[in-house]
Amino acid sequence: MELYFLGTGAGMPSKERNVTSVVLNLLAERNTYWMFDCGEGTQHQVLRSPIRIGKLEKLFITHLHGDHLYGLPGLLTSRSYQGGDTPLTVYGPEGTEAFIRMALDISEAHLTYELKVQEHKKVYEETVIFEDDQFLVRLAPLVHRVDSFGFRIEEKPLTGKLQAEKLKALGISSGPIFGKIKQGLDVTLEDGTELKARDFIGPSYPGRIVTILGDTQPCDYSLKLAVGADVLVHEATFAEQKKHLAREYDHSTAMDAARTANEGGVGSLILTHISSRYQGAEAELLLREAKQIHEQTFLARDHWSFDVPRRSAQS
Ligand SMILES: [Zn+2]
Repeated sequence: MELYFLGTGAGMPSKERNVTSVVLNLLAERNTYWMFDCGEGTQHQVLRSPIRIGKLEKLFITHLHGDHLYGLPGLLTSRSYQGGDTPLTVYGPEGTEAFIRMALDISEAHLTYELKVQEHKKVYEETVIFEDDQFLVRLAPLVHRVDSFGFRIEEKPLTGKLQAEKLKALGISSGPIFGKIKQGLDVTLEDGTELKARDFIGPSYPGRIVTILGDTQPCDYSLKLAVGADVLVHEATFAEQKKHLAREYDHSTAMDAARTANEGGVGSLILTHISSRYQGAEAELLLREAKQIHEQTFLARDHWSFDVPRRSAQS
């Protein structure tokens, strides 16, 4: 599990930072990628990355401002030419489907794969928008000029591996007994020996939590979504000196992000969505400010990746 930052700028692209898009690399977990936001030019950034959009499984849009959205039609149509034949689901606020359908209809674009759009209507509380046996995704409303949302991706606990060598030492060869123990079922052998499944399965691992927020000023739900996360990806449009602008435009400063990370007991905080007024080394100011509150903070830049390490085993 790894986060790959395709675009880390706010509002407009700059030479240094393209507009917002981040990918959660789940190749090891489910052989797919999940993308969060798709600003203009995202597909160009993808070309310069190891990501293959044919393997894109889900695309989450935090809000409908152009710097998070305008890359969608191009990326969706290019996916047809890049081996994308598996279904793709786009999750976005009300209006996402109209935007996509109109762009595709007017340009007479035809996709070679099934595109599903799941809109989250105006919600005022935390809602589960996706769940399977591996992951659960929660969504909650943030505070921005338009409806904006944050996502909390929770990995389910990983069960331990079968310790085959222990079974082999008892003279049991692979077959149905292995299968039952793997499922956690106790087995009684023909000679009456009882095998407890737990004695032959390695330790399990707690799942990881990644929180990715859309544009927002500090609010109750940004904290709620962040509590206990291994990684929090938070916008940091401004430095503290421009806090008045952050408030005026419903954005956050780096210190706002750090306060949320700190209060939520987050592992690592990653600052992104950086205003183009902070060019080159000037952006380090944001990092320095945030670190005063939350030491484990990183400043994202385009084409930077962050490994989300597996948590230690539970005995
Ligand atoms: Zn934005």
